[in-house]
Amino acid sequence: MGSLKSNYHTHNRLCNHAVGNAFDYVEKAIEYKYEEIGLTDHDPIPESFMTEEEYLANLCQRNMKEEEFYNIYLPEVKACRDKYKDKISIKIGLECEYLDEHKSYYEKLRRELDYLNLGVHFFKDKEGHIKSSYHDISYKNIDEYADACVLGMKTGLFKILVHPDLFMFDYKDINGKRIFDEACQKASKKIIEAAIKYDIVLEVNVNGLANSRKYNSESWLYPDACFWDIASTYKDLKIVIGIDAHNPLSLNSTDIDQVKEFCAKHNLNVLERLSF
Ligand SMILES: [Zn+2]
Ligand SMILES: [Zn+2]
Repeated sequence: MGSLKSNYHTHNRLCNHAVGNAFDYVEKAIEYKYEEIGLTDHDPIPESFMTEEEYLANLCQRNMKEEEFYNIYLPEVKACRDKYKDKISIKIGLECEYLDEHKSYYEKLRRELDYLNLGVHFFKDKEGHIKSSYHDISYKNIDEYADACVLGMKTGLFKILVHPDLFMFDYKDINGKRIFDEACQKASKKIIEAAIKYDIVLEVNVNGLANSRKYNSESWLYPDACFWDIASTYKDLKIVIGIDAHNPLSLNSTDIDQVKEFCAKHNLNVLERLSF
């Protein structure tokens, strides 16, 4: 089973759908000989950011609360970094959603941390409704998903756009089929070109494999081969493999090997470590 030199996408129990605390992940990372790990649990999302219905539909209630961020998460990741600083390089961060009208909120979080990942699990459409990147994307609104990614990247607040191809999870083309169509191609190019322009790293997500199994899909719902084939034609694009660990044991897995093979097959120039 394989591991990596670095992983910049690591959750913990505070999001209520992962196990282990920061120490558990870092101790496993040391055991598996990682050189660097980024701790990035899901961000606290204020209830005022959307309607109650949208909040629940997008599972925002699972994430840590703002007081937990300050009172538990930050002290824990800092203590962990201090304890293990001679054994492994530790960067502290969060995986954040991004809503442009609340930019100052994300700026405040960013000031406390080394970096932020941008994870667009939901986005605001033209009518101002929150849409899920898992279940609400079709040929009609994929452009709005791409625009939401670009808005976030443009801020300079984020280092990595994680699972940029998440839109393929349950995408519907004009016939209601999960097929990577022309609209997907256009949206992918928009995301990739913005990543290069704003110097954002794109992530090939290992947890997509487990997520695909969870939904009984024989093929991977993401990472998506068509997306990454387009990405491979952009030589200036920065790419990392991210485990999106929700269990310390996932820092070493055959899924990692499979994603490494996928990257080699699609000629992706994967960075083993990022500079900060
Ligand atoms: Zn998660
Ligand atoms: Zn994640």
